[in-house]
Amino acid sequence: MDENAVRRAIECKRAGEELAPAQWERIVAGFARGTIDDAQMAALAMACIWRGMSTAEAAAMTRAMIASGATLSFPPGETVLDKHSTGGVSDVVSMIVVPLVAACGVRVAKLSGRALGHTGGTIDKLEAIPGFNASLSVEAFKAQVERIGCAIAAQTQDLVPADQRLYHLRDRTGTVPSVGLIAASIVSKKVAGGATAFVFDVKYGRGAFTTEAETAKDLALMLVAIARQFERTARAVVSDMNEPLGRSIGTGIEAIEARDFLRGNGSPRVSELASRIARTMLDLAGVAQSGRRVQQALESGDAYEKFVEMIEAQGGDRERLEALTPTLPIVEVTAARDGYVQAIDGVLLGNVVRNWTNRDPFAGLRLCVNVGDRVKRDPPLARGYGTNDGAAVREAFRIGDAAPPVRPLIYAEF
Ligand code: URA
Repeated sequence: MDENAVRRAIECKRAGEELAPAQWERIVAGFARGTIDDAQMAALAMACIWRGMSTAEAAAMTRAMIASGATLSFPPGETVLDKHSTGGVSDVVSMIVVPLVAACGVRVAKLSGRALGHTGGTIDKLEAIPGFNASLSVEAFKAQVERIGCAIAAQTQDLVPADQRLYHLRDRTGTVPSVGLIAASIVSKKVAGGATAFVFDVKYGRGAFTTEAETAKDLALMLVAIARQFERTARAVVSDMNEPLGRSIGTGIEAIEARDFLRGNGSPRVSELASRIARTMLDLAGVAQSGRRVQQALESGDAYEKFVEMIEAQGGDRERLEALTPTLPIVEVTAARDGYVQAIDGVLLGNVVRNWTNRDPFAGLRLCVNVGDRVKRDPPLARGYGTNDGAAVREAFRIGDAAPPVRPLIYAEF
């Protein structure tokens, strides 16, 4: 596609017109090859933010992104699951549900990313575990899924390179939050990763890329519709990310939270979402009585044993995993006044903690309260490990006289 044709496509999108699938395919292919430059691609992404994209456009983009690189596949006839979160703070769900679902007898092949903006990355969290290797070759990844039923690996450079380049550009140009662009980015990676069925964990709220619940719903529907066009079965769960999901924010500290959850010591919010995602994954695989199976795998310790098996298969060992505990100096952050916790700013906390974890993977925060809790000045709102920057953390908590409205964690499922 020459420069003038790209310019015309940008002008059409700017005017709110729908681009044809062939145009999307040529644009993405050109961008991946480097014949369409960042300036034109960023202008097109901005036009998509303002004018939106149809499902047909996002699907065409998805197809072209997949075609930009290598793809994985598992033996035909096998159900292999994957799940993907649209990104949040204290989101420990992947580390829990991958071994949990595998412990229920269904294979899970999870390709994950690193931290992005204020949101944490599952790979960074797992890599804090001594010895853990997330950089598996395609052969090693597939062999581990066959052998023990699950693996979590970092996405390789040759899988959907167009998304890697476009995502970086969107991050720099304020063009991440477009439903169509997010859907194409996510589904292309999941299809290229080889799984046959996906559950999308779509977040909305202050700590998510889609702030409004209705927009998250549109994204959920589009993700499912596009996945089906690639002959994948898919479901999407929309959940609240107006406050951090779990009790910890960081990298290693979140891996510890996932480990402790699987040993029976978890927070109700993590339990609600992780159980729901695991159940939905089992439903997709046609497993009967999914709720009971999930509960059994947790209560029997099978899910924890599968977690240890996965960590050991990828270079860690039980003894060092079980010995992990944050040993860094602690700062206690207390409330400036008595009252109700009206809001906890996950974006602020995610950004603050990211600076700490760049220095030490076990630095981080443990939250002692949730939105809606009544607090007094003495007991801490949070404990910071490996920092003395309590003031930045305190700013993230809004304390007021009135209890805030109660919001359900899970908003919808499609
Ligand atoms: N996560 C992704 O993988 N891509 C997006 O565009 C947004 C969140």
